[in-house]
Amino acid sequence: MSAQEYDIIIIGGGPAGMTAGLYASRAELKTLLLEKMIMGGQMMTTTRVENWPGYPGGIDGPELMMRFQEHCVEFGLETATGEVERIEDLGKQKRLLIDGKEYLCKAVIIATGANPRKLGVEGEEGLVGRGVSYCATCDGAFFRNVPIAVIGGGDTAAEEAIFLTRFASKVYMVHRRDELRATKILQTRVLENDKIEMIWDSVVTGLDSDNTGLTGIKVENLKTDEQRQLEAVGMFVAVGVTPITQFLGGIVELDESGYVKAGEITHTSVAGIFAAGDCRTNILKQVSTAVGDGAVAATQAEKYISEL
Ligand code: NAP
Repeated sequence: MSAQEYDIIIIGGGPAGMTAGLYASRAELKTLLLEKMIMGGQMMTTTRVENWPGYPGGIDGPELMMRFQEHCVEFGLETATGEVERIEDLGKQKRLLIDGKEYLCKAVIIATGANPRKLGVEGEEGLVGRGVSYCATCDGAFFRNVPIAVIGGGDTAAEEAIFLTRFASKVYMVHRRDELRATKILQTRVLENDKIEMIWDSVVTGLDSDNTGLTGIKVENLKTDEQRQLEAVGMFVAVGVTPITQFLGGIVELDESGYVKAGEITHTSVAGIFAAGDCRTNILKQVSTAVGDGAVAATQAEKYISEL
């Protein structure tokens, strides 16, 4: 069977990929947006988005993404579910192997985003779904009237801790330093919330469990070496993200943390391959920056194609 051909193939259906799709299809380029799981990316597991302009009072992540999706297909963008196995640079064309089928295109936009990072503590993997979670919006409601802990000190940890106070009887927030990394407004909300107890300067050293799942979390204070046992039956890990770039197999240059090396005009080390959003090296990871990136990547791809 001959390969399907497109002008642009976008990999990833988060805010960056969908915006790139909107711009590319509006420029009347034959574009396919490929998503491995569900459209919307990390926003699908985000509670309230308060910093996306135009929505005073905020909007829930999944609702915002549903609107993005409706909008991006309005101009004829084709979307599909599938996993990219390989990308080859043939010069003026790129060949992609997607679920065993061959596709050809003139330009590729990588917009695969990032996944939550694991904590790396013993027993963590085996307790996923039995107390350990990486998504408060997905699993928070399972922890009604019980004590739980959030690990991390960034925006995600702060938002999750605040959200989880709706369900849990108490939320411990375990952070390895004595100052949160989260935005000031979130810091204030965390510190003023009576249900949240900060466990400063501390890391998780062990997990206790029985046949029902997680029963407790051992933490150690890095300054005093004091050990403490938190009676928590849920642990929400929010210690940052890892870019989804392993599948690229070295076709474009990555930095030491695995992010695609691409500047603000989204060009990667290979002509005709662009990178947008959280998977590329950038200083700010927000819906607004991902959207900006998607627009830049699509217009750069359009320019590249017209110059071929
Ligand atoms: P992040 O900003 O990288 O924060 C990760 C947190 O986890 C940091 O506090 C870090 O501690 C801690 N940490 C990292 N590795 C750890 C380990 N092994 N053990 C214990 N703690 C560890 O990650 P994020 O909160 O997931 O956010 C990712 C990006 O998305 C950020 O750019 C963030 O601003 C953005 N974001 C924005 C919003 C929003 O605007 N509403 C919401 C969510 C996320 P240190 O502070 O000591 O490094």
